[in-house]
Amino acid sequence: MRNEGIGSWPRRRARKTPGRVAVVHDGVDRTYRELDDRVTRLAHVLHASGVRRGDRVAYLGENHPAFLETLFAAGVLGAVFVPLNTRLAGEELTYLLADSGSAVLVRGRGCDAPADLGVPVLYVHDGYEERLAAAPGTAFDEPVFADDPCLIMYTSGTTGRPKGAVLTHGNITWNCLNVLVDLDLAGDEVTLVTAPMFHTAALNMTCLPTLLKGGRVLVEPAFRPEPALDLIARHRVTFLFGVPTMFDALASADSWGWADLSSVRTMLCGGAPVPEALIHTYLERGLSFVQGYGMTETSPGALCLDRDMSRRKAGSAGVPHFFTDVRVVGAGGADAGEDEPGEVLVRGPNVMRGYWKRPADTRAVLAGDGWFRSGDVATVDGDGYVFIVDRIKDLIISGGENIYPAEVENLLYEHPDVAECAVIGVPHDKWGEVGKAVVVLRAGAVPDEAALLDHLRRRLGRYKVPASVEFVPALPRSAAGKVLKPQLRREYATRT
Ligand code: ATP
Repeated sequence: MRNEGIGSWPRRRARKTPGRVAVVHDGVDRTYRELDDRVTRLAHVLHASGVRRGDRVAYLGENHPAFLETLFAAGVLGAVFVPLNTRLAGEELTYLLADSGSAVLVRGRGCDAPADLGVPVLYVHDGYEERLAAAPGTAFDEPVFADDPCLIMYTSGTTGRPKGAVLTHGNITWNCLNVLVDLDLAGDEVTLVTAPMFHTAALNMTCLPTLLKGGRVLVEPAFRPEPALDLIARHRVTFLFGVPTMFDALASADSWGWADLSSVRTMLCGGAPVPEALIHTYLERGLSFVQGYGMTETSPGALCLDRDMSRRKAGSAGVPHFFTDVRVVGAGGADAGEDEPGEVLVRGPNVMRGYWKRPADTRAVLAGDGWFRSGDVATVDGDGYVFIVDRIKDLIISGGENIYPAEVENLLYEHPDVAECAVIGVPHDKWGEVGKAVVVLRAGAVPDEAALLDHLRRRLGRYKVPASVEFVPALPRSAAGKVLKPQLRREYATRT
């Protein structure tokens, strides 16, 4: 039968490069032939438990090869994979399982949610290998089409209750093609995956493009800076993705100075605003450190900086991915002029079909003409390079003036005492809103509000300088590394 689904990739790869290593985890290497065999057997296990075309199969667990096996096996059957965030509480998980109507839950380690989440469970660490070994190895021949749903990915929920973005097999394939074309991924790629695979970036920007091309994926359950540097050197890693906090932690690790990074061809950073100071740390080390910009709803790649532009356009998220279009539009809906802020719109074969069972929410962001409204503000320079400014909803309006928190945060990051920061708007009687900086200091630094504000005053217009600074031990973050600004706004709403 015709098969345009990603579930067919292990089979196609096994046909071309059976003996090449596909996945490395916990000291075990698995070739494409083995991956294909395991995916087929798992598809039989799922089928035997009643999973059929269109059914949802959820996965809950830290990064593990079984995550990828389940994704592919669901794809083989034409079922839809629903990855769940391991940091959610039991109640939130129950909501997502019910919202997606998942038929089965595959559960790995790394989540302490209650055992009973209301859905039948298949444990990865208990009886999984035995079930695979006992299942038939005969290939399925289900028809799967590019427009069939492949994944339901819940957005992190930094803007309310999580919504499930429905990504089709075609969406994922086009996104992978974008990555292969724009990041020049090769068949000998060695890709380190430490960011959670239940978010689109780790899965769709690194794992899947690498496997499509026949490279090798190193699956690590979590990100820890020292072991990551060691893995890069030992496995001659060529490609890795991280959110800005991960790259900051890598560059702050004790062994950063002497770590062997000579094998690395591309470091892709995105998922949240990338501080310019961080970009320069990596460029000064001679690394090709590029920004990518995207969101769950666009599978996720929308913009990407070419490797050879990493220096010349440092700070830019690049130009649209090869098969994707991006516009930056002003309030009236016309294209914003050069360097003029406007909203980012994305169109292309990687843009989601819609939100799962939420037609009104879908209509609010996806017009009939196919342009998806990102809710982010950006500017475009004379060469067409896009600079992400901030999220519209994080914008602070103080006395009628717009303040983009990311601009203030970038300058705070240049201060040697600042490890992490977030600038939010808090209510103010006279100005409506004023900025407040919430800062995590580097080890050994002493809180000095006046010094930080003075550092900003010398570089910024007065109205942009936060009215106060709060020193905290850590910032609340989502699993994708994004600062949970709504939580901070709630916390400081009455405390200026
Ligand atoms: P929700 O949609 O519920 O708010 P979320 O924002 O966590 O959840 P994601 O799809 O994980 O959803 O994140 C997409 C957002 O991340 C983008 O809209 C943008 O605000 C931000 N982002 C991604 N890459 C970059 C980047 N390179 N620079 C700045 N911001 C980025």
